[in-house]
Amino acid sequence: MRVSDDRYTRERERLDLALRFIRHEARTFTIRQWTGLSDDRIRKLYRTYVLETDAQQVHRHRGKSPRQAAFFFKNPELNFQAAQLASLFVVYGLLCGSDGGVKSRYRVGSLESGTLLCQVYESYLELHAPVSISFEHAWFLLLALSRHDELSVAPCSVCGGVRLRDLLSTRRFDCSNCASAAAAAREFSEGAAPC
Ligand SMILES: [Zn+2]
Repeated sequence: MRVSDDRYTRERERLDLALRFIRHEARTFTIRQWTGLSDDRIRKLYRTYVLETDAQQVHRHRGKSPRQAAFFFKNPELNFQAAQLASLFVVYGLLCGSDGGVKSRYRVGSLESGTLLCQVYESYLELHAPVSISFEHAWFLLLALSRHDELSVAPCSVCGGVRLRDLLSTRRFDCSNCASAAAAAREFSEGAAPC
């Protein structure tokens, strides 16, 4: 009896997590990866969810998940929001600090890690309206940071804040705030130069 109760609770948690992913417009592949549900179960769940709620607000994304680390360096605002997300991953325990960056503390397919990923994204949503980073991009950011081959985090050399680091770039980067301030100061001094 106890065993079947536990199994029921676990199944309920799996479905609840899948619904949370659907609400964040995650792709079917991502939902399957994190919950272990079949594509067919996910489709049915999606259909039920759409019928029971305001479906207009949830979009279903098809195709491949994002894979470009360069996305997070497109502009200072995006870079700032990505650094905030990286900090939230550490705060919620999905990543932890290690020599020269961060390392993974999550397990794909674990309901606990999946729930933490949703909590991070929901905290991020509360900080920004509108947001610049989709749930799929946030998941890609977590993946890229834990792989440590393209992206990492480091303290800004000017203000000490968390900055996202492009490991493939040799350029020295301050955090987006300090980089913008330095650019503005440069522009000002160039404008003020005597002719
Ligand atoms: Zn800075």
